[in-house]
Amino acid sequence: MHNPYVSVVIPIFNEEENILILWERLSRVLHENFPNPDRGWEVVFTDDGSRDGSLEMLRAIAEEEPRVSVVEFNRNYGQHSAIFGAFSIVAGEVIVTLDADLQNPPEEIPKLVAKIDEGFDVVGGWRQGRMHNDSLFRTLPSKIVNAVTRKTTGVALNDYGCMLRAYRREIVDAMLQCKERSSFIPALANSFAKRITEVPVAHSERAAGESKYGIWKLINLQFDLLTGFSLLPLQMLSVLGVVIALLGFLLFIGLVVYRFLHPEGTAQGVFTLFAILFFFVGAQFVAFGLLGEYIGRIYQEVRDRPRFVVKRIHKQL
Ligand code: UDP
Ligand code: MG
Repeated sequence: MHNPYVSVVIPIFNEEENILILWERLSRVLHENFPNPDRGWEVVFTDDGSRDGSLEMLRAIAEEEPRVSVVEFNRNYGQHSAIFGAFSIVAGEVIVTLDADLQNPPEEIPKLVAKIDEGFDVVGGWRQGRMHNDSLFRTLPSKIVNAVTRKTTGVALNDYGCMLRAYRREIVDAMLQCKERSSFIPALANSFAKRITEVPVAHSERAAGESKYGIWKLINLQFDLLTGFSLLPLQMLSVLGVVIALLGFLLFIGLVVYRFLHPEGTAQGVFTLFAILFFFVGAQFVAFGLLGEYIGRIYQEVRDRPRFVVKRIHKQL
């Protein structure tokens, strides 16, 4: 059998309502656009510890279609780990990632692959008409994520959150060499890519089931980005410290001068000190929190646990 040209990677966590229709649309697109075995395709699903019938459905597909593989995780490790799990076995030259909930139409895949053929290393999807389809609760955090990512990575993309993306083989190989635990794939990919572009892609409502991202997972993702790709928070901390120290010193001078001018007014001074004290205590807690975030991550990296455990790979021989 030839090596595939396009590898499609799909993380799956409790998506039983979507899998059949997803596979139907995806396989039609792949058969139509990549019929030539010299430029063939494969699909790698990762079952990220689903508790519904997803795994059985995926295995049934893999039993029928030799170009489909299923990476089974022993429990839920999160979307980005699931994508990494699939990355570790893909064979194609172009790797396309896709969400399973049909928010990313499989019909857009040829468009992304064409861009890679033009010579780009990374092609991101830029979701059009998103505001109509997703709730504010979901789009507002994404907007913040985008803005911060743009700042910290220095690559100005419009849509970092879209997981409909295509990567050249070398980029995926480089990402696989990263040993860190918490990684945000689009930002990580950009740090290895030379030519990056975006193409507008359609975006629809989640076909069935619920979003697997709660507010905590989103906050966690934001911290991954902030600490994973820049030392900005630490640097801000020092700047903040200097500013606060200066202010404190100036206030101290001011209070001394005041004391000389009005030797009888003491009570006011006590309240001023209280205000300053609270200010410092607050600032310290912010500082501790941020330092703790870094230390926690260092701790995790030092333990060097495997990012995930693959139980089995289901594939026809
Ligand atoms: N997903 C996963 N593991 C998780 C959470 C999500 O593999 O812990 C998969 C999920 O099945 C879907 C994709 O990641 O294919 C995106 O998830 P979702 O649609 O819930 O995210 P949203 O569109 O709300 O950002
Ligand atoms: Mg979704």
